[in-house]
Amino acid sequence: MIGLIAITAAGRASAAQLAAAWPGQTRTYEAPAKQALHRAWAECDQLVCFLAVGATARLIAPLLDSKWIDPAVVCVDEPARYAVALVGGHAASGNELCTRVAAVFGARAIITTATDATGLPGLDTLGWPTEGALAAVSRAMLDGEPVALETDATWPIPSFPVTVGGAGQYRIVVTDRIVPVDENTVVLRPPSLVVGVGASRGVDAEEVLALIGEALAVGGLAQGSVTSLATVEAKADEAGIKEAARMRGWPLVAYPAERLAAVPVPNPSDAARAAVGTPSVAEAAALVSGDVLVVPKRKSGMATVALARIRPRGRLAVIGLGPGDRDLVTPRAIAELRRASVVVGLDRYIDQIRDVLRPGTRLLSSGLGQEEERAFTAVLQARGGHAVALIGSGDAGVYAMGSPALAMAGTDIVVVGVPGITAGLAAASLLGAPLGHDHALISLSDLHTPWEVIERRVRAAAEGDFVVIFYNPRSADRDWQLGAALAILAEHRQPSTPVGVVRDAYRPGQQVLLTTLAELDPAAVDMRGVVIVGSASTLNVADRMVTPRGYKWQPR
Ligand code: SAH
Repeated sequence: MIGLIAITAAGRASAAQLAAAWPGQTRTYEAPAKQALHRAWAECDQLVCFLAVGATARLIAPLLDSKWIDPAVVCVDEPARYAVALVGGHAASGNELCTRVAAVFGARAIITTATDATGLPGLDTLGWPTEGALAAVSRAMLDGEPVALETDATWPIPSFPVTVGGAGQYRIVVTDRIVPVDENTVVLRPPSLVVGVGASRGVDAEEVLALIGEALAVGGLAQGSVTSLATVEAKADEAGIKEAARMRGWPLVAYPAERLAAVPVPNPSDAARAAVGTPSVAEAAALVSGDVLVVPKRKSGMATVALARIRPRGRLAVIGLGPGDRDLVTPRAIAELRRASVVVGLDRYIDQIRDVLRPGTRLLSSGLGQEEERAFTAVLQARGGHAVALIGSGDAGVYAMGSPALAMAGTDIVVVGVPGITAGLAAASLLGAPLGHDHALISLSDLHTPWEVIERRVRAAAEGDFVVIFYNPRSADRDWQLGAALAILAEHRQPSTPVGVVRDAYRPGQQVLLTTLAELDPAAVDMRGVVIVGSASTLNVADRMVTPRGYKWQPR
């Protein structure tokens, strides 16, 4: 039974809501608080107190005995914004209760135990098939019991808590091989196998699937690790092959015969060459999608099948964190951060997102000015097979780490980009709509770009009448460039042209200034801001910077 302790009017309303949501599972105890709690403590295995954490802690203090017999206690604040797992998080399933209570109220669950539920990578969330004791091993992880981790290769998996990876009675095994499984073992099937398939016209799906099953059995390999079927273009429409792929939910990939003909294979066939123009379909197609042949060609009456293994590739996610505020970080960026086991970035950006990382995530932070080194570290870690997040402010590909990292990355890693809200877009949103028409971003930093190049681009933007966003506008040792750039623009634009300066957009201490080309004092600008200079058509409307959309953009 779940006891609900409600003292205030708001608390009683919340308790009634919970009671209605979980019919027959709750009993409500009302004021006075002390008696209510004592009775509930004796009668229930779990308590939800609609009381402050402090008040609850004082009330339960004399009753606490041991975590094995005490009920779980979850506190919910007056407006039901937070549900806090106070005691009995593991043994009395308080963490789980907390999550469920939070879900009823749309509240945030606050769970503080070391291996908290929200910090654990759900073993099924990688999207990889699991076999065996998923529930038992997940529970062991939740309870902080030691869990062994056995992988047959370095897979880019999220970090696990410290309780995972040593010796343990429970095991997580990551492999595409058929392995013995007991009641304490869960097997994760990585996406590591590809099936090459060929067939005569009229083959049926059952024959194809039976042959695939046989090939997997011969190789001692698991169906759960198969990622796709591969064949030659001429067979992509073969009903039996298409149906086999559909029945298993595998994508079907088809390659031109010339491409397959160029792949060296152990078992070429003249018949295949004559029929479809390549001496191998199954083996060659498997090898184009995969890396190493693990089961050579096998034949049935009308089908051929071969299996190749795809070498694990590390994963590099290049993630933009937006200008500052947490609610301008995209949900996808958060998901990718939680997908990573290694995070590489500037100290202050890591600080910004530290709380969303999974326990055990390795942080490779560094100070300003070590860009090359950071990019190299990130690529090296990904090459080592890990799931790496390389983070940057704004968009990580705009004057940031994306390009130095990708310039050294090869086909041996998987790269995923997560776009972020750039400083330019953030500043524009604070100024109004200055980017309503064509615009150019120009960095005024001449540390890595000669000033003549920058000047030529400023001149071109001036002549082209682009709205211009200056990044890296001015610093202590680069104090004349902004003045020089504005002077070039002033040769082509009116002194009254609107100019916006935004410093620390969406960060504490944000400053927004709307002025004109004639009045802007470059000394008021530093590295923490951007400067947006209007085009000939940009207006100041009600103290907002507006660049008309142009053309004949009129209501009809
Ligand atoms: N990748 C970043 C830009 C990095 S270059 C992005 O996409 O936004 C660093 C420059 O960006 C700073 O010198 C400053 O000009 C600008 N900048 C970054 N964050 C900013 C913010 N919150 N407010 C104003 N300007 C910012």
